[in-house]
Amino acid sequence: MTSPPAIVILGVGALDTARRVQALYHGAKVHGLQGRVSEADVAYAELGEHLRELYASGTPIVALCAAGIVIRCVAPLLSNKGAEPPVLAVAEDGSAVVPLLGGLSGVNVMAREIATALDVPPAITTSGELRFGACVLNPPEGYALASLDQGKRFVSDLLAGEATRIEGDAPWLDDVQLPRADDARRTIRVTPLAWSGATDELVIHPRSVVVVVDANVTGDALHERLLEAARAQGLAAPSLAVLLAPASRLGDPALREAADALQVALRFAADSDGASNAADMLRQTLRVPHAPFDAGTSIAFAAAHGPLDPATVGRARGKLSVIGLGPGDASLMAPAARAALTQATDILGYETYVKMAGPFRTDQRVHGTDNREEMQRARHAFELASAGRHVAMVSSGDPGVFAMAAAVLEALDEAQADAHYATWSAVELEIVPGVSAAFATAAQAGAPLGHDFCVLSLSDNLKPWDVIETRLRHAAEADLVMAFYNPISRARPWQLDKALDIVRDFRAPSTVVVLGRDIGRPGATLKTTTLAELKSGDVDMRTMVIVGSSATRAFRAAEDGREWVYTPRWYE
Ligand code: SAH
Repeated sequence: MTSPPAIVILGVGALDTARRVQALYHGAKVHGLQGRVSEADVAYAELGEHLRELYASGTPIVALCAAGIVIRCVAPLLSNKGAEPPVLAVAEDGSAVVPLLGGLSGVNVMAREIATALDVPPAITTSGELRFGACVLNPPEGYALASLDQGKRFVSDLLAGEATRIEGDAPWLDDVQLPRADDARRTIRVTPLAWSGATDELVIHPRSVVVVVDANVTGDALHERLLEAARAQGLAAPSLAVLLAPASRLGDPALREAADALQVALRFAADSDGASNAADMLRQTLRVPHAPFDAGTSIAFAAAHGPLDPATVGRARGKLSVIGLGPGDASLMAPAARAALTQATDILGYETYVKMAGPFRTDQRVHGTDNREEMQRARHAFELASAGRHVAMVSSGDPGVFAMAAAVLEALDEAQADAHYATWSAVELEIVPGVSAAFATAAQAGAPLGHDFCVLSLSDNLKPWDVIETRLRHAAEADLVMAFYNPISRARPWQLDKALDIVRDFRAPSTVVVLGRDIGRPGATLKTTTLAELKSGDVDMRTMVIVGSSATRAFRAAEDGREWVYTPRWYE
């Protein structure tokens, strides 16, 4: 199972059972119907649409409702032959666990886990599973089936009464009640070698093979050449676990492409090992017992005795993901940011935001810091990443808006003159955007940023106050809607009043102003006022101030009396 399951409930009656299921899966969230379940971790508006979205994104689903409802909801997506996540229906009171979909992605394993926790028998309906206790066609992580079609034929042979031998190491089959016989005509073969096509065997590949390239192997379609070389050795592509290269090639995009195409981990051998060719590098880097395959000096292969943990081979390139968490609410975080948080080995950032991004696994290192020295934090991130760690640097909102992304790039730019530049610039750097406070606040209020606007930070910590005044004057004069970040703080008590004085020189007292405080966080407040009534006492450092243009207007919707603010798309 790749991502933690979404535990979906329709009412509070299911909450107890949902929490018991949640406790089984790290990172799992309880999704509750908006307006009916306020205690859920994630709110959704409509069950069918939500289940389809989860299903399409490959998220395992545990739905605490009738099986029929779940089936009807995802039915439109079922003819699609894509990867199928596990989908289970669980009775609200925990009395039944029914695996529905995802036989090849572990739904029965999940059904057993959940049923055990709820102390009921799982409703397993797969015939091979019933007979053999586990699905032979669903080997555990680290193993891959050579051919699913052949696998299905093989299992039906066993169900029809054939016995099988097992060749190779298949520890997970020890507990399975397979009909075994040493002289059986059928064989389950666990090997990195390619399947010959023989119909009397089921071939399962351990992901045990390291392919190593030296400094000279590069060029287009590298993965095809590596596959060809593997084939020439009789090795099956799914057996490949790791592509190993010298550290001098850390930033080489051809390697990244080849590793992605082969779906293997990309690892690097330290240059200091002084290996002169690929085979040497293998010998020195692969610290588990392995069998070398005869290959050229530029490309070599070795197979470990079982599935290989890539983390034990050499080191990773190192990655720095500078991510935006959005305003706070988990549903407003981009999936790419969530993915970076899940994959990261190290999480770095200002304490409040690190807390917002959590919880984290025990194998993830959290470097929460109250250190406001952003450049220092940026350098720390590069140091960790250039040692092979995957660092997630977190900011609230968008990381490029008055936040860490610019500090990170500045640190890298400044390092150009330094000796460690080569290792820092080899780090894979990505910036993942987020929903900035101005956008989150605007959406709550309506569409005050519906026409030309600007964003300004009122903090004079890093820029002279007269620059701020000049910009304010120009923006006010240009009749731009203005979003103020960092409007006020204990250390900067007078700046906001000064800023408002400048704006009042250009804008009417009736100008609409929106104040959003802690938007997307617990206790959020939204207030609409006017430039005349706005007092700096209404604003603190957790507030977003949006000052409308001359065209910005507010009105109340007749039905619920709710006030909306917008800036029309046209101009007079
Ligand atoms: N990178 C952040 C902004 C950091 S500057 C982003 O893109 O949102 C910090 C300022 O942003 C705060 O002083 C406040 O003005 C505003 N802010 C950040 N989060 C907010 C929230 N949830 N609600 C309202 N304003 C917020």
